[in-house]
Amino acid sequence: MDSSMVTQIEEIKKTIPSDIRLIAVSKTMPVESIRTAYSVGIRDFAENRLQEALDKKEQLQDLSDICWHFIGHLQSNKAKRAVENFPWIHSIDSLKIAKRVNRLAEEALSAGVITQLPQVCLQVKILPDESKYGWDIDALWQDVPEIKELNSLNLRGLMAILPLGLSKHETLGAFKNVKVLGDKLRTNFGSDFNQLSMGMSGDYPLAIEAGATMIRLGTIIFGRRRNN
Ligand SMILES: *Cc1c(COP(=O)(O)O)cnc(C)c1O
Repeated sequence: MDSSMVTQIEEIKKTIPSDIRLIAVSKTMPVESIRTAYSVGIRDFAENRLQEALDKKEQLQDLSDICWHFIGHLQSNKAKRAVENFPWIHSIDSLKIAKRVNRLAEEALSAGVITQLPQVCLQVKILPDESKYGWDIDALWQDVPEIKELNSLNLRGLMAILPLGLSKHETLGAFKNVKVLGDKLRTNFGSDFNQLSMGMSGDYPLAIEAGATMIRLGTIIFGRRRNN
C-alpha cells in the first residue's frame, strides 16, 4: 500500500466540497494503485483506452461498487464494448458517435446486457483547439435537435478540456463559459442535463469555482504517468 498516495488523496478530499464528484483518472496506472485509492474511499475511476480499462475491470471484479467512467475518444468499433462496460461516458464528441452509442445502448438494454442506459456528457471545445476532439459551440447548437431525439442516452451535461497554456484568469473565464453553455443547453435537454465534467490536476480549483460537478484527477492522485 502506497501511504503517500493515501495521504495525498486525503489532503485533496479536504479541499473539495462534498457534493463534487471526484473521479480518479487511472489511465496507465496499475491495478494496485486503483486498489489503494479505493481503500481511501474513491469509487469513481476513469480510463481513456478501452482495452486497458477492460483488463483492469477484470482484475478488479471483487471491487464491485466501482463506477467506471470513459473519458477518451471513442472509436466506432469500440462503442459497443464501451456501452456494455461504462455507466458513464464523458467523451461523446460527435453526432455520429452519439447516434451510435444511442443505438447500441438501446440494443444492450433490451438484450439485458446493461440494466441502465449510459449517462453521457457531450464533449465541447469552449475555446478553439485543433488538437482535440469535441464540438465547437456553433456546431453543437446545430446538432441539438438531432441529439434531443436520442432517447437511449441519459444526457447529463458537458465535458470540457481546455487548451494548454492559458493563464489562471483565462482558465476561470473559459470554465465559466462552459457553465453558461450548460445552463443554456439545459433548456433544450431537460433538467437532468446538470453536470459539468471539468477540471484536471492543474486547474480543478478554478473549475470548481466556475461550477464543476465532476472533476477528473490523474497526476495529482497517482503521480506522473510514464507515457501519455
Ligand atoms: C488524463 C486525463 C485527465 C487527468 O489529467 P491530470 O492532469 O493527470 O489530472 C482528465 N481528463 C481527461 C479527459 C484525461 O484524458
